[in-house]
Amino acid sequence: QVSDTLAKEGPSSPSYDWFQTDSLVTIVIYTKQKDINLDSVIVDHQDDSFRAETIIKDYSYIIHMGLSREIQEDFSVRVVENVGKIEIVLKKKENTSWKRLGHPLENHNLLIPKKDTGLYYRKCQLISKEGVTHDTKLFCLMLPASTHLQVPVGQHVYLKLTITGTEIVKPYTPVSDFLLSEFKEPVLLNNKYIYFLIKIYPAGLFTPELDHLHIGDFVSVSNPEGNFKISQFRELEDLFLLAAGTGFTPMVKILNYALTNIPGLRKVKLMFFNKTEDDIIWRSQLEKLAFKDKRFDVEFVLSAPTSEWNGKRGYISPALLSQFLKRSLDNSRVLICICGPTPFTEQGIRLLHDLNFSKDEIHSFTA
Ligand code: FAD
Ligand code: NAD
Repeated sequence: QVSDTLAKEGPSSPSYDWFQTDSLVTIVIYTKQKDINLDSVIVDHQDDSFRAETIIKDYSYIIHMGLSREIQEDFSVRVVENVGKIEIVLKKKENTSWKRLGHPLENHNLLIPKKDTGLYYRKCQLISKEGVTHDTKLFCLMLPASTHLQVPVGQHVYLKLTITGTEIVKPYTPVSDFLLSEFKEPVLLNNKYIYFLIKIYPAGLFTPELDHLHIGDFVSVSNPEGNFKISQFRELEDLFLLAAGTGFTPMVKILNYALTNIPGLRKVKLMFFNKTEDDIIWRSQLEKLAFKDKRFDVEFVLSAPTSEWNGKRGYISPALLSQFLKRSLDNSRVLICICGPTPFTEQGIRLLHDLNFSKDEIHSFTA
């Protein structure tokens, strides 16, 4: 049931139903929304509990049950976008008729504000770990077969490890492998893998532990969070990305999405701030992309370069930004995304306001 206040303020509550054949059980969620896609639903079956969380604006609609009979590990999720219907097809372990779907668990059949749902985790296996720079690695984690989860563009997840008896949690932004794979078609099967670019700080709390994991070890991964919305790309003509260090991570999926899905996009420019040349993540891949796609340009700025560096130098500054942020047309629709160490991002936002960019034209990634 939905409380009166919620019903007044939030979207109208979804509902669900279920039906079965000899071998399948289908759970149908009627979201009563049209802008639903495969990112909108997260499904897990673990520890005898079945949980499906559907994200509707700032709310979550949760199905959470102990199923009455056993099911196989894998299941499929389909979305019928134009009617806002989600179908989760489970495979029965035994071909017997179920009298009921199961018994309700916490928050079952409720629409609650997303911020009140708490972080929900599943254990993912470390598949590979590759050096990218002297201190940054590409980690590939595999979701369990019994999870459906896709991290939307611009969102992050929390990784959790138990370190000497204490649970430690830190946020990380998944990247896609499109810069590595030479622009091959996205492989749908890849949805089982989540990639992270993570810088290891030798004196840090979490990253050295992550670095010590062996292939096959497990890390808990939360549901996605973040306030970036794809709708910020609507009718976009110029996209400017300001990234410092690992603040590059949200830009990877943004870049991929923008270059493939925004029809009227004329220009995408990345200004990438690092200390030294050795710190630049995926430099040659970015340069290759700029060569192949005329809409894309990349500029590297170093704060502690060697004397041989011919490129731009220093911290983020009015001079660097005013030269870089040139609209392709006088009135073109722009979005500027900024991410990096907090002083970098704060300074950047101040400078962007000074250059008369409006709040709607700036998206900053912060904690
Ligand atoms: P920490 O223990 O936090 O230490 C980090 C560094 O600070 C170390 O060098 C340490 O010696 C130093 N330090 C710690 N405490 C102090 C102190 N009191 N005084 C001075 N120095 C100190 N990082 C990525 O690599 N990739 C990502 O994709 C990514 N995504 C993120 C997304 C979000 C939304 C946010 C907020 C952060 C993201 N981060 C990302 C950063 C990440 O969450 C961690 O902060 C980072 O990995 C450091 O964690 P740690 O526990 O290893 O280091
Ligand atoms: P770093 O120390 O290697 O610095 C990279 C560049 O940032 C420097 O070359 C400089 O140009 C700029 N910079 C650093 N300190 C500055 C300051 N005081 N003022 C102005 N500019 C400054 O960076 P790193 O170790 O890779 O750290 C990346 C940061 O990005 C971390 O703090 C991480 O938490 C953050 N991050 C945030 C998100 C997010 O919020 N979504 C995602 C990824 C990373």
